[in-house]
Amino acid sequence: MNIDKSIRLDRKDYIATETAKDLIVLHHTVGGTAQSTIDYWKSDPARVATAYVVERNGVVYEVFDPKCWAFHLGLKESGGAVDKRSIGIEIAGEGGLTQRDGKLYCFDRVSDRTLFKGDSYDNQTAWRGYRFFSAYTDAQVGAVTELVNQLATQFKIPRQTPANHLDTDDAYRKFQGVIAHFHVRADKSDVHPGFPWQKLVDGCSLTLV
Ligand SMILES: [Zn+2]
Repeated sequence: MNIDKSIRLDRKDYIATETAKDLIVLHHTVGGTAQSTIDYWKSDPARVATAYVVERNGVVYEVFDPKCWAFHLGLKESGGAVDKRSIGIEIAGEGGLTQRDGKLYCFDRVSDRTLFKGDSYDNQTAWRGYRFFSAYTDAQVGAVTELVNQLATQFKIPRQTPANHLDTDDAYRKFQGVIAHFHVRADKSDVHPGFPWQKLVDGCSLTLV
């Protein structure tokens, strides 16, 4: 697949040590463009990042070698143990949206500047504090599927994912396969229920466990 490696993090922005990987974790950025997210990581000394960011048009940016690692889970008590053995994929998007007077707003703020104009996903009911979310594009879902396929082969990551796509369980901190951030953090809403897991399962021949 086509991977854009034109934007790279500096060595100070991740941990340039190779570690064995047996887990892929899906995220969404809650931000603007992929570039703006990468710029933010460069400005932040916490070495928070993921190896991949998938732009709305489906372009996949690899910002550091996926054999290395960075903090992307925020599991404070784990000392980075799960970050170390996982590859993070960020899907660019605004994330959870706030509805006010028939309009949607992003970044938990109601203002002209945060008025959301893109395609939204309506979950019908609140999940993690939001009913509406910015929709993942078909191009992003296609790119994520291709990328997960490639990484599963390259790193021999088990082709399995939890059948549960809504709830957090600390047991997932030991999972080997493909999960999302919400599986290990009750306070996170990525990826949201509009993510078409079945397409990923079919496209990557994943087993639901
Ligand atoms: Zn996340």
